Amino acid sequence: MSVPTLCRVGDRSSIEWTEATWNPTTGCDRISRGCDHCYALTLAKRLKAMGNAKYQTDGDPRTSGPGCGVAVHPDTLDLPLRWREPRIVFVNSMSDLFHARVPDEFILRVFAVMQATPRHTYQVLTKRSPRLRRLAPRLSWPKNVWMSVSVEDDDHVRRVVTEHDQLPPGCSQVVAYPCSWARGAAARAAGRLVRSTRSRRREGWPGARSVATR
Ligand code: SF4
Repeated sequence: MSVPTLCRVGDRSSIEWTEATWNPTTGCDRISRGCDHCYALTLAKRLKAMGNAKYQTDGDPRTSGPGCGVAVHPDTLDLPLRWREPRIVFVNSMSDLFHARVPDEFILRVFAVMQATPRHTYQVLTKRSPRLRRLAPRLSWPKNVWMSVSVEDDDHVRRVVTEHDQLPPGCSQVVAYPCSWARGAAARAAGRLVRSTRSRRREGWPGARSVATR
């Protein structure tokens, strides 16, 4: 997913708002204008050329590229279990966990690891909010998971707010993450999400705690 700054993929990260990255899946396909300058596509090509084993699957050249085909990496699932000190972890800096080609069962396993490691805080960012909404009732929603959805324009704002209303009570936080040109849309999303959260609280959904815009 696009983030403000990325320098390294792996354990310790220099993404400005996180402390570590964890990539149980890699690879993606462009799905919107928000993907126009995706660093993951460029970086995956480089990592493939360097022989990195996680980036040897090629994606569709129309939407992806060399080394950026979607691949799951079960061998990386236990990585957070081995980090003894608490970390803020960006999940899938080189992919989108809710990509259609990531099996449901694998997403469930990723969430199970996050639940099993409450010492860490996980940031999960998706551009595929419809699948998030569909899968949400099957997922555990521990408090240490910050679920984020990219916001790109007003139409997207409306969709995200509607989907937020449909998320299960346990999904306690949705962060509207603006693409660089969509600050206004993100601000409007924040207002609507806050109102949506208040109404969920009134309906007795204690899980609806906080909504923020970054
Ligand atoms: S959704 Fe995929 S292609 Fe789009 S910015 Fe994120 S990682 Fe890149």
